Amino acid sequence: MKLDYKSIKAAAAKIKFRTKAFINGKYVEAKSGKTYESINPATGKVLARVASCDEPDLNAAVAAARRAFNEGVWAKRSPAERKHILLKFADLIEANLAELALLDCLDAGKPISDCMNIDLPDTVHCFRWHAEAIDKEYEKVSPTGPDNVAMIVREPLGVVGAIIPWNFPIQMAAWKLGPILATGNSAVVKPARQTSLSVLRLAELAAEAGIPDGVLNVIPGNGAVLGAALCRHMDVDAVAFTGSTEVGRQLLHYSAESNLKRVVLELGGKNPQVVLEDAPDLDYVARQAANCVFWNMGENCSSGSRLIVHRKLKDKLLEKIIEVSREWKVGDPLDPATKIGPMIEQSHMNKVLEYIDSGKSEGAKLVLGGKRTLEKTGGFFIEATIFDNVKPNMRIAREEIFGPVLSVFTFDTEEEAIALANDTTYGLTASLYTKDVSRAHRVARALRAGTVSVNCFSEGDITTPFGGFKQSGFFGRDKSIFAHYQYTELKTVWVQL
Ligand code: NDP
Repeated sequence: MKLDYKSIKAAAAKIKFRTKAFINGKYVEAKSGKTYESINPATGKVLARVASCDEPDLNAAVAAARRAFNEGVWAKRSPAERKHILLKFADLIEANLAELALLDCLDAGKPISDCMNIDLPDTVHCFRWHAEAIDKEYEKVSPTGPDNVAMIVREPLGVVGAIIPWNFPIQMAAWKLGPILATGNSAVVKPARQTSLSVLRLAELAAEAGIPDGVLNVIPGNGAVLGAALCRHMDVDAVAFTGSTEVGRQLLHYSAESNLKRVVLELGGKNPQVVLEDAPDLDYVARQAANCVFWNMGENCSSGSRLIVHRKLKDKLLEKIIEVSREWKVGDPLDPATKIGPMIEQSHMNKVLEYIDSGKSEGAKLVLGGKRTLEKTGGFFIEATIFDNVKPNMRIAREEIFGPVLSVFTFDTEEEAIALANDTTYGLTASLYTKDVSRAHRVARALRAGTVSVNCFSEGDITTPFGGFKQSGFFGRDKSIFAHYQYTELKTVWVQL
């Protein structure tokens, strides 16, 4: 696919959707025959009708996953064989990169440039990295006395559920499936209702790569019904989840009420960007800050939605951020020039607009944007929006908005900046700007967040764990070798000599 608007639109008009569930190596209708509508958020029109699975489909998927696990067709393959198959899977994703990028662009309203240049390359790299790690990790022998040998080995958990959000559909599936499959588990994936199409296509590529039937199943359907049933299923050993803190909390109940399955949660954020008075190059900081909050329409758990800036720099930096933010073109996500696509759905757009209204009525000063735009398209677009003079008790200061909205706070001392940054129930990411290397280390340690980036906005790369402190996460991490550990059990084999 050529990367000009006309060619992309032509490719979008011809794209084929896989809309059935993928169970035991085959596409199948939901047993009930029911479907739901997947809406294109850029037009408000129906894009596809997707199989709406419920408990009988879930039971079939879990049974297939369990059979595959018990027969050892994946779990007992040699590490080198699993690696080769997962590498082939990554190659096939790369070979079909444009198609998969287009699926996420149409289904989630994500800008095509982001899908082509970030989400899909990251997905390919994620599978390659986890594949390569499979035969590089050694197990341990413990330091017992001379009469024993004690091996400490890791074994796959069995059947692992993965509940995927709509903001990075294929990439989040990769962050879960990479380590789940690398460690030999079988998977049952429930994509978000709004964005099932890329994950359904992924399943077909997995089969083509040689991942055996039953090892990777995808069941689209309603989270509150199907997702909850997956989490309560007595034959599922663990569930990995990315989504809201509210639903994450429920998953812990489901686990407690069923079989005490392991639950790995990656949840929301209200992330600070702290700009100290010795921050380097304010033009650079302004660009990083705008990218940190507006990237992916702000529909991002690591969105830096709170700018905490030294009083002396505030006016100058804010002026520069406003200027840079005007370059964040809102438009058709199929257009490669677009940087902000639509909100995922009408109800979410309305929620973000309500937050903007609350900011105004609670006394914050609106200095950019603040409105729905491009209404004639039928899409759910909102302008890049900035509030100045935000106070810590306002709703826009405390709650995750998940939209393109930046709140600006000021401080006078480093202690005050740290206190403001940590004044949240979340703790996912934080960024900080300073020229002083000792100060950078000191403040980075003081910020209560899973990832702190210094003099940039970054979520790290595939080698670094990603997840949150406080109510941003529970138990585990996505990415890196640490993600492998959470999908395995530790076993001691004690041998008397
Ligand atoms: P949810 O947490 O409801 O959805 C995430 C996933 O969980 C979806 O696959 C969803 O299915 C599923 N789900 C929903 N309810 C249940 C349940 N009871 N049991 C099991 N699975 C369930 O997020 P929303 O889409 O409602 O978004 C609400 C807010 O959550 C956003 O505004 C944002 O603040 C936050 N969020 C955070 C994300 C992150 O990256 N950490 C990602 C997405 C949202 P279904 O699609 O059918 O609802």
